[in-house]
Parts: sequence; structure tokens; C-alpha cells
Amino acid sequence: MHVLVVEDEKKTAAFVRKALAGEGFLVDVLTQGDQVIPFLRTHPVDVVVLDIMLPKQDGLSVLRDLRRGRNTTPVLLLSARGGMEDRVEGLDAGADDYLPKPFGLSELIARVRALGRRAIPQQPPSLQLADLSLHSITRTVRRNNKEIELSTREFQLLEFLMRSTGRICERTTILQHVWGYSFDPGTNIVDVYMRRLRDKIDADFPVRLLHTVRGMGYVMREESTP
Ligand code: CA
Repeated sequence: MHVLVVEDEKKTAAFVRKALAGEGFLVDVLTQGDQVIPFLRTHPVDVVVLDIMLPKQDGLSVLRDLRRGRNTTPVLLLSARGGMEDRVEGLDAGADDYLPKPFGLSELIARVRALGRRAIPQQPPSLQLADLSLHSITRTVRRNNKEIELSTREFQLLEFLMRSTGRICERTTILQHVWGYSFDPGTNIVDVYMRRLRDKIDADFPVRLLHTVRGMGYVMREESTP
């Protein structure tokens, strides 16, 4: 599940990102209201966690614009003000849920998950490439009907790659979506994980599915590298 968090307070954004990523969600963070609609045009997500108090354009106004443009992505509004009137205003603007600050992370996660469930038809829970299958709800991976054990991070990486089947994924994109880094930590962590993943999903099989594209990144597709 892909979640967009819009929050200008660095600390809150960081711990929300960490908590959601820890649940296996792909998380993107924006810090200004006016960035939301352009971002969603090119990156459809399953749930938006939207703070009300934002620079450039406030959350309620973003939400109204979003709904006016017939975007129905579920939105969880965050507000420092927890009064009944604000809640009603938020729901009127088109929010699907509302969470006053300060909130507990477990409550946030539960609500995001509930909203994401409604959006599930957009993202099939099971992915298939040749004889490799991945099921995001049961968190199982099989190749040729044989179950493959993956760590949480390896699973997230494979899920991201399989959702992007046929598209080249650059290291920076992978770092952002799987590790939640918006910067390059200057390590070869992606390559290390790719090697591990390849050992587990490709090494024992005649057809390779995970390919390195020199100087660009990685791609999953069903064909042998020439
Ligand atoms: Ca804020």
C-alpha cells in the first residue's frame, strides 16, 4: 500500500513515515500544500494523510481542490484542533476520516489501514510474474510453488519491483520507496539487497526474473539477459 503523508513539522513527518514504513507501506512525504495535487497526478497513492496547517496551501483547501478534480483517494485529515466544528468542516470538505493531534501511532496506523482496505481494488493483493507469485496480505512468496523465505525488507523490495514489472527502477527511487530515504546514503545497500534477493528468487531457476540494467538500476521481467 502506498501512502502520501503531507506534514510540514519535520519531527511528526519523520515518525509517521517511520511507523507506516514499519508496517510495510510505501511512504512519500510532502511538506507544502501546493505540492499535493501535482504529486498525485503522477503518483497515484492508496491513502493520503493530510495535515490541515500547511505552508502555501492549507489542508482543507487542498482537499476541496482534490475532490473538485474528482480525485477520490481516501484522505485522513490531521488537525491540531480537535473540536467538533473542525471535524465537521473536514468531513464536509471531503475527508474520509479525521484524527486530532496529538495522536497515538497505533491509532494512526489502524485508520490508514482501514482507509487503504477500501482502496484495495486499485492494487491487487497478489502479484504474478512467470512462476513467481507474491501475496501482500499473507506476505508469502512462491516460485514454482515452492515457498521462499524473505526478510521484511526483502519482501518490500520484491513487492515494489513486482509492482513495477517491466519498468526500470533506479536506485534512488528504490531507496525512497523501500527504505524511505529521500537522499542517497552513499552506501551500496540496494545492491547488497538485490544480490540477496536474486540468490533467493532466481539462483535455483533456469529463467531469471530480476535483471540489472547497467548504469540505470534494476528491472523485473520474464526474459533471459542476453
Ligand atoms: Ca502542520
